[in-house]
Formats: sequence, C-alpha cells, structure tokens
Amino acid sequence: MSELHDLTVAQLAAQIRSKELGAVEVAQHYLGRIRAHESLGAFLSTNEEVTLAQARAADARIGAGEQSPLLGVPIAHKDIFVTKDFPTTAGSRMLQGYRSPFDATVVGKLAGSGMVTLGKLNCDEFAMGSSNENSAYKPVANPWDASRIPGGSSGGSAAAVAARIVPAATGTDTGGSIRQPAAFCGITGIKPTYGRASRYGMVAFASSLDQAGPMARTAEDCALLLSAMCGPDLDRDSTSLDMPAEDFSRLLTGSPIESVKGLRIGLPREFFGEGLSPDVRAAIDAALKEYEKLGATLVPITLPRTELSIPVYYIIAPAEASSNLSRFDGVKFGHRASNFSDLSDMYKKTRAEGFGDEVKRRIMIGAYVLSHGYYDAYYLQAQKIRRMIADDFQQAFKQCDVIAGPVAPTVAWKLGARSDDPVANYLADIFTLPASLAGLPGMSLPCGFGEGGMPVGLQLIGNYFSEARLLGVAHGLQLATDFHSRTPGKDLS
Ligand code: GLN
Repeated sequence: MSELHDLTVAQLAAQIRSKELGAVEVAQHYLGRIRAHESLGAFLSTNEEVTLAQARAADARIGAGEQSPLLGVPIAHKDIFVTKDFPTTAGSRMLQGYRSPFDATVVGKLAGSGMVTLGKLNCDEFAMGSSNENSAYKPVANPWDASRIPGGSSGGSAAAVAARIVPAATGTDTGGSIRQPAAFCGITGIKPTYGRASRYGMVAFASSLDQAGPMARTAEDCALLLSAMCGPDLDRDSTSLDMPAEDFSRLLTGSPIESVKGLRIGLPREFFGEGLSPDVRAAIDAALKEYEKLGATLVPITLPRTELSIPVYYIIAPAEASSNLSRFDGVKFGHRASNFSDLSDMYKKTRAEGFGDEVKRRIMIGAYVLSHGYYDAYYLQAQKIRRMIADDFQQAFKQCDVIAGPVAPTVAWKLGARSDDPVANYLADIFTLPASLAGLPGMSLPCGFGEGGMPVGLQLIGNYFSEARLLGVAHGLQLATDFHSRTPGKDLS
C-alpha cells in the first residue's frame, strides 16, 4: 500500500482538496519524517509551530470552499531564499542567525497559493558548488547511497525530495544547481528562462545568471509549482520579465505519443563526446530511443562553444559574486568579528571568519578579472563569448524544438572525492553551463541508473519561454517509463 509520502504534489493536492487528507495531518507526517531522517543533513532549520499554523490556515481555506491547486501541500525552501519565519543562512557562517524582515517573492507566492512551509534546506555556501560540501554547516548525504554527494548547490532540496521527507522544494540554478542535484538524486527539476521567476529575496550569487525553480518527483508537479512561482515583479527585480503568469501545465497530455508529436530533438555533438562516462551515456541513449519510439525525430546538432562555457562562466559568475558579496562587511548583515582595532581591521576579520574557502576563492578571482589591468583580457572577452554561446543556441533551434543530453558527465561521486580539487568540480558543470549563460530554460528528469546503482538525469533545454513545452515533453517520457517513481533504499521507506 502506498504511504502518504509516496504521493506526488498533484495527488496530495487532490486528496487535500477533497478533504480525504487534512493539511495539518500531512504537515505532521512530513515533520515526523524530517525528524526521523535528520542524519541526511538536508535541513538547516524547521519551526513546527510556524508550519502547523500555516497548515491550519490552509485547512481553514479549504473549509471555506477554496480549490486552488497547491492549497495545503507542504514545501521546503533552499536556504538561499529569505524568509521571515525561519532563519536564512545561505549555507554560510556569515549569515548565521540572520533573520530577514520579509519573504522572497517566490516564497511569498507559494505561501499565497496555500503551500505550507516545512523549513529551510541545506545548500552550498552562497550557492557556490556542485556537491553541497561547501555548506558551512554540514554535508548532505545522497539518499541513494549515503557515502555519495547529493550534488549541488541545491543538494538539500534534491536529497529531501528523493528521500520523500518533503513532497517538493525550491532550488536556484546559476550554472546547474537545480538540474545537477535533481539528476544525482533521481528527481525532476526545472530552471525557467532567466527573468521568469523574481530574484527578489534570493541571496544574490551571480545576478545575471541566478534563477529560481521547483524540484519535485515529476514533471507534472514541477509544472504546477512553476506556475505558482513565476510572474512579473517589476518594482522589485529589474530583470523580471514583463510577461503575465502562465499555466505551465497546459501542454501535459494524457498520452505520451501526443506529447512528443512532431518533436525534433537536437543532440549536440559536444554533449556526447569523450568526457561522458559510458554508464551515463547508456541511460541517456535508452531515453532517446524511447522518445524515438514515441514518434520524436533525433537531429544531430552542434553547440561549438560548449567547452568555452566553463572558462566563461568561471569568469562572469565570480566577477558578479565579488560585487554582490561586498555587502557582507560586518555592518549591514549577519556576522561581525568581535576583536578588531579599526574599521578596516573589522572588515578584514569579519570576512576572513565569515566566508569559507570556495567563496573566498571566487571573490579573489572575481576581483582579479574585474581589475583595471585585466578587465579587457578576461571579463570583456568572457562577455563576448557569452553572447556567441547564446547565438549558437539560436542557430541550433532552427533545426530542432528541444535539445537533449546528459546533465553531468558522471553519476554522483563519493563524499570527499573531489573536495580539494575545485577545478574537477568546475569541469563537471560543462553540460549545464551553456543554457545558464544563454538564459535558456533547462530541466533534468530521471532516465535510468548508472555506476553503483545511482540515478542518471536527462537534460532537456528549450528556447526562451518554452517551459510548458519542455514540461510536456518530460511528462510524455514519465507516462511511458517509471524512473521518476523509483525510490531509494528500504531504510527510507
Ligand atoms: N556548480 C556551479 C558553481 O559552483 C553552479 C552553481 C549554481 O548553479 N548555483 O558555480
């Protein structure tokens, strides 16, 4: 018999609406699971009183006859989103004990739609990382194998959804941080077109790349959640798109054949080269075969500057980070060193104590590439190549409707295996960075298992504003296969 925590967001919502389940009962069930699986390291904070009060309010709305699609369903937020009812740390010592006076727009929108907040999820410090090992608080275990990383930077979000200690979570993706942990933990996640989701109240890492998105078990759930998260926020985020909120579920059909009808799937040559490990490749190939069987056409394409996306991203993202993180100076937010001689000593000690190694490394790289003598050689060049990467996608989309490939070259690696090799981590971002640099929507959905029985994610990238199509195409595969409903180990049942 399936348990409450086996239900998807869509199923939970339906049962809450029909009053088969109460929002309080559901929240209590999940709070119990969060407590029971604390050793995963997924959560940084919970507040049962706040959660239950929100659940009671949702039950009252249902009692009053409200029928909105997410009412009463629990969610947890990556600790990058500021929240007034929970502390916000961004995974950093710098923000230990920090309380925001307001909620991030995304958090507010989901709460407004009646979702119940279970707490805040662990992540890499300021969302910098690919393994969650850069959290200043604790690592997160991959629910499929506790000796492996869950991916990052939204590692807490992915692990919590995979372990079914939350039905859904928010994540943020600057260079892959929704897609890669979703792939490594065998769940579904989508990063929308840049500007779709408001960045207001998201602790900034690289502002021209940062985007929020949902992480859940299925594409259907992601579509429901994304519809509630997006929409214009023009007064508070200057890069927010002036486009009305959309129903991203509108292209989910009941039939897998219908959902891929006439679909041309572009396969970038550069995504299937030497660097791709054979186990991942086999799972991706099987998923592509399935799409072909359903009637899609596979089209070879090229994204010739794929390799350059690594140096370009690791110049632009640190440059923006070095500027964004200058606000953490011991005066405005969070941590302040206690023993200092003068103002400049206070700045130095505060930042030396508050930031971890990876964050310091990025601030130094960023300050360097922006400095007078090097700006033209690095930052300006990177910006030019960024534009060319975006243009390459436009060329490719003349030949295909969506692009498919791996999310990462391998499955999740062992905790500690790469923790003192930052470059090895950077190189593994090769397949997620291009869409980020171009501002395109991208998603990951489970498509099989590789080495050590670890999940493999299939990446789908669409043109601007094609989220509904991407989700429809992903849903098609999920109707035809059952990878998204596989769950990790007995001890998590
Ligand atoms: N792994 C990438 C980085 O370390 C991406 C992080 C992200 O998307 N937030 O910057």
